[in-house]
This record gives sequence, structure tokens and C-alpha cells, in this order.
Amino acid sequence: MTPEQFQRVFPFVLDWIARTLAASAAKTKPVAALNFPRLPSFYSNDLLARAKVAFVDQCPTPPLSALGLNQFGEFEKMNASGMTYLDTYFILWREAERESLHFHELVHVVQWQVLGPERFLALYADGLEKQGYRNSPLEVMAYDHEARFKSTGEPYAVEAAVRQQLEAFL
Ligand SMILES: [Zn+2]
Repeated sequence: MTPEQFQRVFPFVLDWIARTLAASAAKTKPVAALNFPRLPSFYSNDLLARAKVAFVDQCPTPPLSALGLNQFGEFEKMNASGMTYLDTYFILWREAERESLHFHELVHVVQWQVLGPERFLALYADGLEKQGYRNSPLEVMAYDHEARFKSTGEPYAVEAAVRQQLEAFL
């Protein structure tokens, strides 16, 4: 995707995100309200109070093909277990109890916050296009932290760690 293409599509995607979040606002709740046992040892109370979650039958994805971005067709159809936009993430009902998935999506919430929407979307789209979903840098970061969360009981400050990793992209 060229920078010109990105600049053309970015306002539409941002608008789609705003409308999607507004439409689901009534069914979101703060992550803190779910009372997961381990998340508070890894994330600040502030983040857990601010980040919101909505449980859905299908995670919404922006209509990228309709915007002329056919290279993301696979991503649109991949039926993800979770998907994060700004400070809100969507999770499939059947995965609602999986704490490590919430942990993963919270990494994305931090990424959105640190990078800002334009840089997040540009980086995410670039990674998706060049490396594919699983190997895109922002996903690798989220999966690596998720793996650390699952493998060790040792708490650490995820927000600070992610922030530091993202400095390479700022
Ligand atoms: Zn992810």
C-alpha cells in the first residue's frame, strides 16, 4: 500500500471505527469489571478501568475490500477470536473466559495508545501486507507477551515493556 493509498483510506477506517464503537458502546464494560485474577499483576488499574470489552458472535473488521484494498481480503475473512480498536476490544463469546486472550488484546490497547490511530493503522496494515497476520510486528509483540504471560507466573509491567518496544517505531 502506498502512503497515498493509506492517506485516502485512513479517514474512512477511522470513521468506521468511531461508528463501530458508538454502536457497541451500550454492551461494552470495563475490563476491570470482569475481575480476572492475574491481569491486575500485569496491567495498571488505570488501564484496566479504561480499556473496554464487548463480547460478540463475530469480531467486526473494517470493510477494507470495499475501500479498494483487496490485499486484506484474507484478514477480513479470518474470523478472529479478538480484535482491538483504540481502547475497546471485541472477543468472541466462546472465548470470553480466556484470560490470556484478554491479555493479548490489552497489548493492542497499549499499542493504539502509544502509537496513536494513524501510526497504529499504518504499521498494522504494512505488517499485514508484507509479513502476514501472525508475523506482523504488532502481532508478534502481542503474541510474545501473551506467551510470557502463559508460561510464567512472574508479573511484570506490560505497559512499560510495550512502550519501550514501540520506541523503535516512533
Ligand atoms: Zn493480536
